[in-house]
Amino acid sequence: MYCLICGNLSFSHICKKCKKEFLKPSFYKRVVEKDFEVYSFYKYSAIKELILTKHKFVGYFIYHILAQESFKRFAKEFKYVGQIYSFACDDHIRGGYSHTAILNKYLKSTFITPIHSALRATNHVNYSGQSLQFRENNPRNFKYLYHPNIDAIIVDDIITTGTTIKEAKKTLKKNGLNVLFALTLANARE
Ligand SMILES: [Zn+2]
Repeated sequence: MYCLICGNLSFSHICKKCKKEFLKPSFYKRVVEKDFEVYSFYKYSAIKELILTKHKFVGYFIYHILAQESFKRFAKEFKYVGQIYSFACDDHIRGGYSHTAILNKYLKSTFITPIHSALRATNHVNYSGQSLQFRENNPRNFKYLYHPNIDAIIVDDIITTGTTIKEAKKTLKKNGLNVLFALTLANARE
């Protein structure tokens, strides 16, 4: 096959050289509310074309690559005093796979246990291109379906206004979870 970035012949959808050159993760911090931080590995503009593949089947492979380069590396280095459970915001399946579930899966490590389909949005209205006002007027209405009173982190692919992550955190807190921080692939506010 051919590398999606440089077009050269490659064993993977993104060649080794491009992974090294374009997918080296950083660690950007954004404070969305008091004492709550969201960390992102990439600037949205830097991987926009790759993120947009999530609407197509090839996105399945691209999200695996992005997660291996960022979430997996993070999890390998991460240390904690106990066990943390990670929850993807809204990991319902669209077009055959869930892109946020792929990211969450790669957090599996000594201290992190990914939990799937446990933080479910009951409102799937499309937020793309919508204002903060629209997002606030149309909340995701999350349902939580796992154990109460555990330590948690939230996973999503993009942080735009932060509305979804804040709402997810509120739902987890209501269930007695200690939410440490959130992790996203990209930060749309650069
Ligand atoms: Zn390449």
